[in-house]
Amino acid sequence: MSTDTKTQPGGVTDAADLDEPASDEFENLYEMAVAQFERAAEMTNTRPSLRAILSEPKNEIIVNFPVRLDDGETIMCTGYRIQHNNILGCYKGGLRFSPHVSLEEVKALSAWMTWKCSLADLPFGGAKGGINIDPTKLSDGELERVTRRFTHALGNNIGPDYDIPAPDMGTNAQTMVWMMDTYMNTIAYAHKNVARHVVTGKSVSAGGSVGRDEATGRGTVYNIASWAVENGLDLAHCTFSVQGYGNVGSFAARILQDEYGATLVAVQDHTGGLGNGKGIDAEDLAAYVEKTGGVKGFGAAEEITDEEFWKTKVDIVIPAALEWQVTEDNAAWLDCRLVAEAANGPTTPGAEKILTENGIEIIPDILCNSGGVIVSFFEWTQNRRGETWYLDEVRHKLKRRSADAYDRTTRAMNKYEVGRRDGAMIVALRRVVKAYDERGIFP
Ligand code: NAD
Repeated sequence: MSTDTKTQPGGVTDAADLDEPASDEFENLYEMAVAQFERAAEMTNTRPSLRAILSEPKNEIIVNFPVRLDDGETIMCTGYRIQHNNILGCYKGGLRFSPHVSLEEVKALSAWMTWKCSLADLPFGGAKGGINIDPTKLSDGELERVTRRFTHALGNNIGPDYDIPAPDMGTNAQTMVWMMDTYMNTIAYAHKNVARHVVTGKSVSAGGSVGRDEATGRGTVYNIASWAVENGLDLAHCTFSVQGYGNVGSFAARILQDEYGATLVAVQDHTGGLGNGKGIDAEDLAAYVEKTGGVKGFGAAEEITDEEFWKTKVDIVIPAALEWQVTEDNAAWLDCRLVAEAANGPTTPGAEKILTENGIEIIPDILCNSGGVIVSFFEWTQNRRGETWYLDEVRHKLKRRSADAYDRTTRAMNKYEVGRRDGAMIVALRRVVKAYDERGIFP
């Protein structure tokens, strides 16, 4: 079932499009992640030996395993767990189920986790996992067997104090509960219940944290709110568009609408695009997507094309789907003040240049979408301590950490006279470099 797809170009795509690179800039996503790191390394005079260490993941685990389908057939799946760096703590990062998963994509996502955890001041390193499957084409039973077989194949390469997966695109709380249960069943009876934190993003009944489901969307909104304060804007008078109406996009839209009074005017997912200048109710749309699996057919808005979606005039564009969605091909279409990167890697460097020239600001992914891993840290801490926190406590702590990371980024931007992505990368890199400076290289 594996593909060697290089990139996913902007917008609603079909399978054929996915074989075409989105830009001439990079062969694959990992090259882009390394280029972003190299810029920050250059600006901070990071020494060559550390650049070499941080340019490659520490471990690249690839497992091939068979899974029985409902009709009795057996398929082979390829699963990845890439452990980029653990100088700051346990490897930490999501698990993605998508037909476009490739080694290079998961490597890039794992590196971004290292920078994201560092920037948010968490005691975690970076990792990412992925399986090359289309979860929309598998039954619940098949997804459960894929998840359990993958977890078993990983064995001791994950662990509650070693490497801790979480949900990402195509996976959810149920996936995490299957992983937890499989892991628990492979260890000694006496240790089962102290191993719950082998994954985060679990359902609350299985030991998850309240507020983890909404955390990435909420963290995105807290970052947007910090930006609005900085720019003297009242979000109640702002409009926004969202690409991707899954976990992250739908929570971001609902919170921005319900708690800050902003208006959703365009949305796009893998099924199509919708626009309504008077506003699309984010709650009604979430309920519709929950039922139907996509935005297409939602009555209270007009269907719009990919081009119309990106050209919609709004204050804030929130890409919350795939990487490489804003490219040199469509960056000039964007008519907004801010791109808030709820997705990982949605903007290519070439597109970023165009956006900057057009006066459009960016809140970069490692800052913008860190709410998920921040609340994953809260879940991990609660499991380790045998505690359960209240929702207002979780939200308050998330808000504080998000604001801290935003402030540290702003200070680095001012000190180094750079944009927000470089500022965020510099903060993240400096913390990792300090850890290496103190610990040295073994032996
Ligand atoms: P999800 O599976 O819940 O939703 C994905 C959304 O993307 C869906 O609405 C889908 O329709 C849309 N999509 C897929 N292909 C598309 C295409 N070609 N064009 C337009 N839309 C398309 O995933 P999610 O958890 O919401 O993750 C979304 C993004 O946020 C990913 O980049 C992920 O890495 C990032 N992220 C997620 C978390 C988390 O906690 N879930 C944390 C940090 C970052």
